[in-house]
Amino acid sequence: MDYDVIVVGAGHAGCEAALASARLGLKTLVLTINVDKIALMPCNPSIGGLGKSQLVREIDAIGGQMAKTTNKTLIQIKILNIRKGPAVQALRAQIDKKEYEIEMKRVLENTKKLTLRQGTVDKILVKDGAAVGVGIESGLLFGGKAVIITTGTFLGEG
Ligand SMILES: Cc1cc2nc3c(=O)[nH]c(=O)nc-3n(C[C@H](O)[C@H](O)[C@H](O)COP(=O)(O)OP(=O)(O)OC[C@H]3O[C@@H](n4cnc5c(N)ncnc54)[C@H](O)[C@@H]3O)c2cc1C
Repeated sequence: MDYDVIVVGAGHAGCEAALASARLGLKTLVLTINVDKIALMPCNPSIGGLGKSQLVREIDAIGGQMAKTTNKTLIQIKILNIRKGPAVQALRAQIDKKEYEIEMKRVLENTKKLTLRQGTVDKILVKDGAAVGVGIESGLLFGGKAVIITTGTFLGEG
């Protein structure tokens, strides 16, 4: 078996999953379509805000990376709705989109037990009903005791 854990996709979820796995000492592989688009923010580069700031804090509380990378790549941070009641107030950061990607990639590349590799996964290898690895478009196969799929919000219909 090549890896303990294989993470497919290096978006926000994939980065957290891979870092959590490697920081637990598990030999981890992250495969993603483009290593220069890690933790990509597709649009408005805002982290947190109403609805999502609680999620960012929860990730932070369990040792995750998003809040740390946000602090390093901030353009602006503020509490929204300070003139309204506490129920609708929330911390929201605007980050530098490109710097955030570069910083997250730097963290992945410098984490022990973690290998980052470019590749589009087109096969999940299954044995006795369990995932035992993945294959990428070039034909290479990687074995893993567990496979985590975090391919995100842009799924095709295939
Ligand atoms: C237009 C738009 C604007 C948005 N604006 C905001 C915002 O301002 N603030 C906010 O908080 N959220 C925003 N969101 C939502 C946010 O982008 C998503 O919630 C978030 O990206 C989901 O993270 P994820 O890791 O699940 O997926 P994604 O970020 O989509 O990451 C998926 C990863 O999987 C990789 N992948 C996919 N298929 C494969 C494959 N076969 N093999 C290998 N790798 C693969 C992709 O390359 C990518 O790296 C926006 C979303 C959209 C579409």
